[in-house]
Amino acid sequence: MANKWVYLFTEGNKDMRNLLGGKGANLAEMTNLGLPVPQGFTITTEACTQYYEDGRQINDEIKGQIREYMEKLEAISGKKFGDIENPLLVSVRSGARASMPGMMDTILNLGINEQVVDVMSRKSNNPRWAWDCYRRFIQMFSDVVMEVSKSKFEKLIDKKKAEKGVTADVDLTTEDLQDLVAQYKVLYKNEIGSEFPSDAREQLIEAVKAVFRSWDNPRANVYRRDNDIPYSWGTAVNVQMMAFGNMGPTSGSGVAFSRDPATGENAFYAEVLMNAQGEDVVSGARTPMKIEEIKVKLPEIYKELLEISDKLEDHYRDMQDMEFTIEDGKLFMLQCRNGKRTAKAALKIACDLVAEGKIDKKTAVLAVDPRNLDTLLHGSFSKETLKSAEQIGKGLPAAPGAACGKIVFTALEAKNAAAKGEKVVLVRLETSPEDIEGMKAAQGILTARGGMTSHAAVVARGMGACCVAGCSDIKFAEDGESFTLGGKTYKEGDIISFDGSTGNIYDGALEVSEGAVEDEDFAKLMTWADEFRTMKVRTNADTPEDAKRARSLGAEGIGLCRTEHMFFEGDRIDAIREMIVADSREEREKALDKILPLQQGDFEQLFEAMEGNPVTIRFLDPPLHEFVPKTEEDIEKVCKNTGKTAEQVRAVIEGLVEVNPMMGHRGCRLPIAYPEIAVMQTKAVIRAAIKVQNAHADWKIVPEIEVPLVGILKEMQFVKKIIVETADAELKAAGSDLKYEVGTMIEIPRAALTADEIAKEAEFFCFGTNDLTQMTFGFSRDDAGKFLDSYYDAKVLENDPFAKLDTEGVGKLMKMAVELGRKTNPNLPVGICGEHGGDPSSVEFCHEIGLDYVSCSPFRVPIARLAAAQAAIVNK
Ligand code: ADP
Ligand code: MG
Ligand code: MG
Repeated sequence: MANKWVYLFTEGNKDMRNLLGGKGANLAEMTNLGLPVPQGFTITTEACTQYYEDGRQINDEIKGQIREYMEKLEAISGKKFGDIENPLLVSVRSGARASMPGMMDTILNLGINEQVVDVMSRKSNNPRWAWDCYRRFIQMFSDVVMEVSKSKFEKLIDKKKAEKGVTADVDLTTEDLQDLVAQYKVLYKNEIGSEFPSDAREQLIEAVKAVFRSWDNPRANVYRRDNDIPYSWGTAVNVQMMAFGNMGPTSGSGVAFSRDPATGENAFYAEVLMNAQGEDVVSGARTPMKIEEIKVKLPEIYKELLEISDKLEDHYRDMQDMEFTIEDGKLFMLQCRNGKRTAKAALKIACDLVAEGKIDKKTAVLAVDPRNLDTLLHGSFSKETLKSAEQIGKGLPAAPGAACGKIVFTALEAKNAAAKGEKVVLVRLETSPEDIEGMKAAQGILTARGGMTSHAAVVARGMGACCVAGCSDIKFAEDGESFTLGGKTYKEGDIISFDGSTGNIYDGALEVSEGAVEDEDFAKLMTWADEFRTMKVRTNADTPEDAKRARSLGAEGIGLCRTEHMFFEGDRIDAIREMIVADSREEREKALDKILPLQQGDFEQLFEAMEGNPVTIRFLDPPLHEFVPKTEEDIEKVCKNTGKTAEQVRAVIEGLVEVNPMMGHRGCRLPIAYPEIAVMQTKAVIRAAIKVQNAHADWKIVPEIEVPLVGILKEMQFVKKIIVETADAELKAAGSDLKYEVGTMIEIPRAALTADEIAKEAEFFCFGTNDLTQMTFGFSRDDAGKFLDSYYDAKVLENDPFAKLDTEGVGKLMKMAVELGRKTNPNLPVGICGEHGGDPSSVEFCHEIGLDYVSCSPFRVPIARLAAAQAAIVNK
């Protein structure tokens, strides 16, 4: 049998959204529920995919079915498409699986032409309506199908309105519209070079093609990437009989919500614009009637709408967003869907529906999009604010939140300004460890260079600071005292705003609304999520403050403490630098002696903050280029501390220069060359653990020592031996029976490939997916941003693999490592601590391959808790 490419609304239902798209599935469902829906048919998402496979052609089989279903629709409507006796007009509407509002355009009144408009005029005795339909159709078809800019048509209307001295389209007469249609046709011919198509069937096929084509427009591609929608899904096309909202004062178009999408309050809301078609409502040219007025002026319609709203909400068990048209006093439903909402509203609605007995807790947990929580945990710009904002650029959405303030260019200025109570944003080419305090003081951090795992991005996420990274359009002036972006020049003190959740950068000050973690519904939903999830959620925390914050957001341990980050603060970086420039074991040990008490103190605080929950401490892994002193000032300091001359220090630095530092002398490669580093760190961990254990008899402290960047079993054996010898000696000296574990981060492909071997020594695995992604793709973490855009354009990749786990490649290595590792040790604990640990779709993958925990930056902990719960529910 041939494929079925087309479905009548009566043949579908709400569970067919993969095939019929969200709009099509819901039009079918509303039809099944007996609601007044203008009938029609849906061309499937598979037909869209087929269109691309056929080289952007609609093949004959699909065309044939479209013709066949048009005949069925003619029979249902009692009208004929393209007929000059009793013409059928339709709308052509796109509708993907996941709603992509505003991404693809709708064409109304299709099937009209010079003869049809005359019949319509005559039969209805309403020529104004007929000509209004015609002029709208030419405009929409030209814009959507032929890509003649809408504004060219708008100009002609504006001119006409000015001539006639009227302000609204509705004040134009039949004759005005007739004249506009003539003008439009001339415009069309000038732009396209041929006559405006009058054949209804040709109009239809061209419109369907345009919808398929729009799936690939740049706006749609960006929206998909931001919202995790795969390109392969395709969009469906709905062809539907028109219901006319532009027939006069008893007709209109509107939208309704079953609850308030901003606050979640259980209050029905609707808006209607009389004598209008769909697009007029959004265009904002006329002010629609609000709910109070509808109640009074259209009591029957109000009552019917309210009933339908209740019915649909009960049926879908979620807040509904509805579109409708009134044709000469009769109501028609054109769309319903689970409405988009703010995070706050999402939580309230989910909790209220449970309280009302309409959904259970499981459904409530599934109803909230974890990605949406970002705005709740951080500040954000309101939709209203953004409407009038002037965007000047876009970078990577590195750390969520909203920032607005005066520009400063150095960490010191940021610190000083903040001390005076000023709000500043730190704009840098890139950040480095000494910027930490300035980053903390600033409202947000904006960098011209670096990717999602650059220093600025990682640190900002940890602190919960807003960060937009890698905005390569920022061009700094030679003297570094100003930069240009979006055609404007900005200097210190000028005000900008940016959004770390979208990467958008705006000129001037935008109002920031604060996050609200204290929200009652949030707490409730999180408790429910915790009941369902099976994976633990830990945090990546490098400082006691991060650890405490994460704990308060529900972290059940630390999955990654990057010990080198503990030296980002204050003068501590100096000790690390002394260690780096040491050229004898003696010198190195002297530097390490300074570091030991600092580390021990930090570890004690981490154990304290985690209250007996597990803490994984990763041994030093400083990519040297991030830590070597660079400025004269820094070098001088090192000289003072070590007694070396500047020449000597420079010579050491030169000796350390690596062509490819990310693959250089870091991770476990350090203690293999310099075992004393591992000795010092082991002492610090064990001493801290003993101390905290002694202070809290009811906690069971089991430090997890993690060796980074292992790829060879013997690397692990070498470093583990040092750790075990040192730890056992410490424990013996203290008379302690404390247990500890030594494991590894799996971040080198070779470690995944030989995981059965590695698991003989490693007592736990944790996937370091930042490096694993870097090494698997061979993409530099810091530079990938420079070419990823061209990859998106060429459809080589759809997403940044550093943000969304590449389940096919990197994921395959992970799966293999879990299986191999557990073959050696069936009880091997395995977690993930890369940035992916806080990305909802990556969390789901981690659940599927059997990880014990995910670990993410503190502010992502609630997101991971919710995502882990959803993964557990969905994969039951
Ligand atoms: P979007 O997905 O952008 O909301 P729609 O396909 O829902 O686009 O179309 C936008 C508007 O066009 C609808 O809200 C409705 O007002 C109008 N519209 C679409 N189809 C019809 C129809 N068959 N009859 C009347 N109006 C329609
Ligand atoms: Mg719509
Ligand atoms: Mg790493």
